Amino acid sequence: MLFVISGPSGCGKSTLVKHALSALSQVAFSVSHTTRPQREGEEEGTDYYFVDRDKFDSMITESRLAEWAVVHGNYYGTSKRELEHRASGGTDVILDIDVQGARQIREKHKKGLFIFVLPPSFAQLKQRLVKRGQDDPDVISQRLAMARKEIRAYPQFDYIIINDALETAQQELEAIFISERCRLHRRQKGIIPILRSFTEPE
Ligand code: ADP
Ligand code: 5GP
Repeated sequence: MLFVISGPSGCGKSTLVKHALSALSQVAFSVSHTTRPQREGEEEGTDYYFVDRDKFDSMITESRLAEWAVVHGNYYGTSKRELEHRASGGTDVILDIDVQGARQIREKHKKGLFIFVLPPSFAQLKQRLVKRGQDDPDVISQRLAMARKEIRAYPQFDYIIINDALETAQQELEAIFISERCRLHRRQKGIIPILRSFTEPE
């Protein structure tokens, strides 16, 4: 399964995704390519693949991206190779991407699960971005202006998480994974041997 998480910058996507990756088995994070400068504490190949514009442009030209978008003035994209690699062996994959990218993935992967994260209010979003302390004030203003537009996309998603109390939001994200894994068509393979055991002699 492909799980796509979107929402305005600072709403808590990375925090929620990190928790889901540690709490659940059989799920991997799709590492995006970006032209954004690396932040302190970020690791190449774990948080992002940091590339320059030339490299990103060649990935677009060679159709190596499953989706891409310009977000807050930088290029971000998910490579097709990354998706294939992370999904190998039947592992679920989580993408943390913006609403433009989510729309592109929806067109290609109709069965994907799309989750939108909302902060409890605009004021709280601003406070989180300031407190995170990773972006300059003008970048924060740009991200907040963008947030006003991005949140309008929420009706295009299957699930909404309101990230107010962190623990509740973490539980909700886990619950989405767990219930999707319990769907009849996804359980079919495991059901067959159980059914067989009921028809075999004791
Ligand atoms: P995003 O990935 O959506 O940009 P982050 O996960 O980086 O957002 O979260 C932005 C900031 O808000 C971080 O400093 C994070 O620790 C904090 N944060 C996340 N969720 C909550 C929450 N429920 N309550 C308070 N602070 C939160
Ligand atoms: P940040 O710079 O804070 O890491 O991310 C900024 C925004 O870019 C976030 O909304 C994040 O979800 C989005 N983003 C990260 N990777 C990708 C990607 O591969 N594709 C798209 N479309 N957006 C991405």
